[in-house]
Amino acid sequence: TTITRFAPSPTGYLHVGGARTALFSWLYARKQGGTFILRIEDTDLERSSQESVDAILHGMDWLGLDYDEGPYYQTQRFDRYKEVIAQLLAQGDAYHCYCSKEELEQLRNEQMANKEKPRYNGKCRDHAVAIEGREPVVRFKNPLDGVVAIPDLVKGEIVVANKELDDLIIARGDGTPTYNLTVVVDDMDMGVTHVIRGDDHINNTPRQMNILKALGAPVPFYAHLPMILGADGARLSKRHGAVSVMQFRDDGYLPEALLNYLVRLGWSHGDQEIFSIAEMVEFFDLADVNGAASTFNMDKLLWLNHHYIMHSDPELVAMHLLWHIGQRGIDPADGPALAEVVKAQRERSKTLVEMANASVYFYKDFDSYDEKAAKKAFTEGSDSVLAHIYEAFAAVNDWQGEQLHDIIVGLAETLALGMGKVAQPLRVAVCGSGVSPAIDVTLSLLGKEKTLARLQKAIE
Ligand code: GLU
Repeated sequence: TTITRFAPSPTGYLHVGGARTALFSWLYARKQGGTFILRIEDTDLERSSQESVDAILHGMDWLGLDYDEGPYYQTQRFDRYKEVIAQLLAQGDAYHCYCSKEELEQLRNEQMANKEKPRYNGKCRDHAVAIEGREPVVRFKNPLDGVVAIPDLVKGEIVVANKELDDLIIARGDGTPTYNLTVVVDDMDMGVTHVIRGDDHINNTPRQMNILKALGAPVPFYAHLPMILGADGARLSKRHGAVSVMQFRDDGYLPEALLNYLVRLGWSHGDQEIFSIAEMVEFFDLADVNGAASTFNMDKLLWLNHHYIMHSDPELVAMHLLWHIGQRGIDPADGPALAEVVKAQRERSKTLVEMANASVYFYKDFDSYDEKAAKKAFTEGSDSVLAHIYEAFAAVNDWQGEQLHDIIVGLAETLALGMGKVAQPLRVAVCGSGVSPAIDVTLSLLGKEKTLARLQKAIE
């Protein structure tokens, strides 16, 4: 059975690159009917924080990437790592190294001067000399000959010669394990069958495979995902705009839209662009992941977001809109049902931020009118138009859009005015701006009480 994992280091928010790695791991497990594990790699105590852990968990939750096991925390597994380090030492696959920082630095400088790749020379490998008062590190005894063939499902088999690798430090002087050791122990103990991660880890893979082999553990398949680039071809980072998953939430994106965007970042299924989650699970395959880097395209994400706002169940969109409405200190009980607002606003809203901003007046009175709109709509005679509207609306018992529409049309005829001369002052009076859904829709959402109160205020 298939077991995948997402193994973020909690040193910051959940980045879209990390989210894509998580998504691919999640999809592959779901597709295979397997298990998806979340593992927090928090052994770097200086750079890790609880805040980052929370941000990662929150991001996963918001995206709907649920895990079957975990979160596991590496900091809770130190005893187990110590055990494995002791095992490797006992079976002769690791050794204590007493080389000092200065010695290693000198070695490195010499190698650099000779234009050689800096690597440990194996001085302590066969005859370590203990030095009083110095805590040795532990190094893994990497095989000297032969090759490591990485079974990579995205890049194809990658072959690395063992003589290119040196003896990796697996435990520091204070006994704490290093990154490559903890990953190996966890992948082994958790039975991970497919390691899906960024291709910035490709250099670690042959080293990790050698340790796995020394431990007698099966070697998993690997899928090294290509980098995500910004429009300028540099690795995607903060300076390209939003990169944190929760920032996209704040900016008014739907998780479904972000997931659909991320799944297409390096993966394709024919020329299909829109995928429901169920379709992603059905069609996803690591074999269809492109090995080349892909470019993050904000416009395309925005287009997808609008698509999802338009075509998702309004109740679902309303659930997300609720959060944005809440951010503005608005109580949704003070106005129309959010799903109705979604239906009225979705055509003109590419993001939920736009939708929320454009919907505040349904719930909350405004203090001032949009200056430009007011100047255009409130002209000589508009007060009298608004007074007529007030009178007619006050008499309405059944507050329905259709009926209100008829009243406005009738008034325009009676007053011998164009529709704009009636509807526009009305719109600005009740919405505060010149932009809103069709006036009948706007009025029926707003309700009789608010409409009359605002008309009265405009006339005063
Ligand atoms: N913790 C590593 C990172 O955040 C990932 C390790 C792995 O996936 O093997 O880059």
